[in-house]
Amino acid sequence: MDLSVVISLGYVLASGLFIFGLKKLGSPATARKGNMISAVGMLTAIVVALLDQGIVDFTWIAAGMVVGGAIGAIAARAIAMTSMPEMVALFNGLGGAASLLVGWAALTPDAATFTLVTIVLSILIGGVTLTGSLIAYGKLSEILGSGAVMFKGQQLVNSLIIAGVVGSAVMFCLQPTDPTWLYAVIGLSLVFGIMVVIPIGGADMPVVISLLNSYSGLAACAAGFAINNNVLIVAGSLVGASGIILTQIMCKAMNRSLSNVLFSGFASVANEATEIDGEIKPITAEDAYYILEAATNVAIIPGYGMAVAQAQHVVKELGDLLEANGAEVNFGIHPVAGRMPGHMNVLLAEADVPYDQLLEMDEINPRMELIDVAIVIGANDVVNPAAREMESSPIYGMPVINVADAQTVFVLKRSMASGFAGIENPLFYKENTRMLFGDAKETLSKLVRELSG
Ligand code: NDP
Repeated sequence: MDLSVVISLGYVLASGLFIFGLKKLGSPATARKGNMISAVGMLTAIVVALLDQGIVDFTWIAAGMVVGGAIGAIAARAIAMTSMPEMVALFNGLGGAASLLVGWAALTPDAATFTLVTIVLSILIGGVTLTGSLIAYGKLSEILGSGAVMFKGQQLVNSLIIAGVVGSAVMFCLQPTDPTWLYAVIGLSLVFGIMVVIPIGGADMPVVISLLNSYSGLAACAAGFAINNNVLIVAGSLVGASGIILTQIMCKAMNRSLSNVLFSGFASVANEATEIDGEIKPITAEDAYYILEAATNVAIIPGYGMAVAQAQHVVKELGDLLEANGAEVNFGIHPVAGRMPGHMNVLLAEADVPYDQLLEMDEINPRMELIDVAIVIGANDVVNPAAREMESSPIYGMPVINVADAQTVFVLKRSMASGFAGIENPLFYKENTRMLFGDAKETLSKLVRELSG
């Protein structure tokens, strides 16, 4: 068979594997397989692209794959689950940098206007993604302050940068042999990436990561046009589209619009003090055991604290013991619990919690009044009733899991500290709430000991 046919078929196969893998990523039950299928698709795409580019020096390619693969493998093993969003931010940034470099390398003195436009787009979007992701990484890992940075005249500065980028991009397309315009586009897009992300902060950061993920796809897509590589166009479009869909899902789960996330500066409104009626009622694990032992219907609502405490295995143990004691046990999963979409599903899957016990927010909320005990494990913002009750709250209108509707609520956390959004939680002061202070894993281990004892 002609090599060009093999190459075309290889690209079609790789694209198909990407699409099929992405589809499987849609459910926790098939996500691992989806990841594997996509990885095979990527390997196919690399091999076929190398066959396609006969001029490539394979020594460099092999060295790059070994070094890059080793860094990726070590990073994936070393990074804690709680730091995943930071890692995704860095990956997005590197994706953007790669597209910027590919676009730049595609520049030839006789490039057609269409190619010049795609080159400038891959450099521009890639540059914004690179520095934007680095700022997002800095904010999430708290190397930089995590709040929104706003200053007087910010919009004017941004408008000037946008005008500068557009002007330089047009000049570059008109005079591609003059490197001044190319350097101007690169420099201004890098600055613009910083300016886009600094006004965003606090609980909005994971949304930005998802948006930057989408940008990295668009940059790759533009680079695909610049070097005329179909699989890069397909893969870039898939990342661009899925990233924007995920961004929309996250915005919806937080009851925010994308423009509100991008331009309103969440942290600046989030820290206002609020007066809450009621008192805190701490309880010991021993006393909690007596209530749990009598419960016939239990809901477990995990949040970021379960990930921090690495308590998923002991949560599973507790669920099994409660079931053995005759109780029905379900898990209520909020779409933005934790620090990335699917965070809780991944942890609970790791602990072999059956998928049919995982109920989404819309499934568990109507059942909440029938629940004897709702156990909130390191969740805070996603169970905050202020979202329903306090119009002045920055999260007012955000859909939350209505744990306060259960007969009794146990909240497992270490202190009275607020969640990621930085706001008070009236749930802790409710009549039917009992606070189980301490590290979630330790508290759960005590409950497990009591129940199995
Ligand atoms: P929160 O960040 O609201 O709360 C986490 C809670 O865990 C804190 O109250 C903390 O209290 C407690 N905690 C931390 N460590 C431990 C530990 N070792 N043992 C017991 N408790 C612990 O988490 P949620 O999951 O409720 O909410 C997620 C937040 O992230 C929301 O604000 C959401 O909007 C935001 N977000 C998430 C996204 C996602 O994709 N998942 C996307 C966008 C935003 P203490 O320190 O007292 O222990």
